[in-house]
Amino acid sequence: MKWIVILLCFLLSSCAHRGGWERASSARQGQKQSPVIILDPGHGGTSPGTKRNAAPVIVEKNLTLECALKVRDYLQKRGYIVRLTRTKDEDVSLHKRVDLAHQWGGTFFVSIHFNHAPNPRAHGIEIFYYNKSQGSPLTTQSKKLATTILDSVVAGTKAKSRGVREGDYCVLRENRLPAVLIEGGFFSNAAEAKKLATPRYIDSLAQSIAEGIDRFVCS
Ligand SMILES: [Zn+2]
Repeated sequence: MKWIVILLCFLLSSCAHRGGWERASSARQGQKQSPVIILDPGHGGTSPGTKRNAAPVIVEKNLTLECALKVRDYLQKRGYIVRLTRTKDEDVSLHKRVDLAHQWGGTFFVSIHFNHAPNPRAHGIEIFYYNKSQGSPLTTQSKKLATTILDSVVAGTKAKSRGVREGDYCVLRENRLPAVLIEGGFFSNAAEAKKLATPRYIDSLAQSIAEGIDRFVCS
């Protein structure tokens, strides 16, 4: 029985310890190297992002930070090294966010945003990556990261999948790291906004983003 418990603990432990990514890099460099995950809470300070003025009132910059801090906590529990481009309500330029990721020796970059649309029926989660050049390692890894996280968040939140999409966003285009931008739901859809205003829902979104990241590292 004791051995079954030990085996289960081993199987359930994250790749931060078990080392899918570690194995690949350590084999090349002859040393152990853990991934450094860069989380980027969208907007902040004088850039509020999208705002919902009808009930429930929500502001994108606050929700991106709330969600990113929870993702960080879930990843740290799994033993990962995590850096955030901001941890409070402050202005950080888009280029600065990318520079920080490079300076910190990031392994990959995950930006968190929320969405709005003129059509109030639009809802669901979509994840963007930048198609630098078809088939390049950076593009392939970015698309794979986007797909892995999307599969996890759709399973974890039961939100509608709007798919993995190509997007020409500064934090993706200027990045030397595999990078994705999550649009975690629409403030302009009343039913989705109601869910997004619930801390429990944001917790499940954050947990499933962390699980997707862990799965990507393991793969
Ligand atoms: Zn945004």
